[in-house]
Amino acid sequence: MSDRATEAETLDRYECRTCGYVYEPKKGSSQGNIAPGTAFEELAPKWRCPVCGASKGQFQNVGPVEGPSGFEENLGYGLGVNTLTPSQKNLLIFAALGLGFLFLIGLYGLH
Ligand SMILES: [Zn+2]
Repeated sequence: MSDRATEAETLDRYECRTCGYVYEPKKGSSQGNIAPGTAFEELAPKWRCPVCGASKGQFQNVGPVEGPSGFEENLGYGLGVNTLTPSQKNLLIFAALGLGFLFLIGLYGLH
């Protein structure tokens, strides 16, 4: 019972062929008081789709959860300047302007 959470990772999900609702064993069902980690096969025979009320027979196995979740959320990182805050960008711009100004002063200083 201790590794029930890890077992849930490989439990098959079932999709309702009537409305497209997907029962995810990992999440269970809040509507039916189904605890997370409950396999579809363990659901009561009279369990019905919480969305459209279809019987278990209307569900088809769509396999276990594919891939780790949250991958897309990480795509925004690593883009350099885009991760800077506006104030950091302003600082960069002023720093560039200041350097350019000092560069001009330096040029005049040479003459
Ligand atoms: Zn349904």
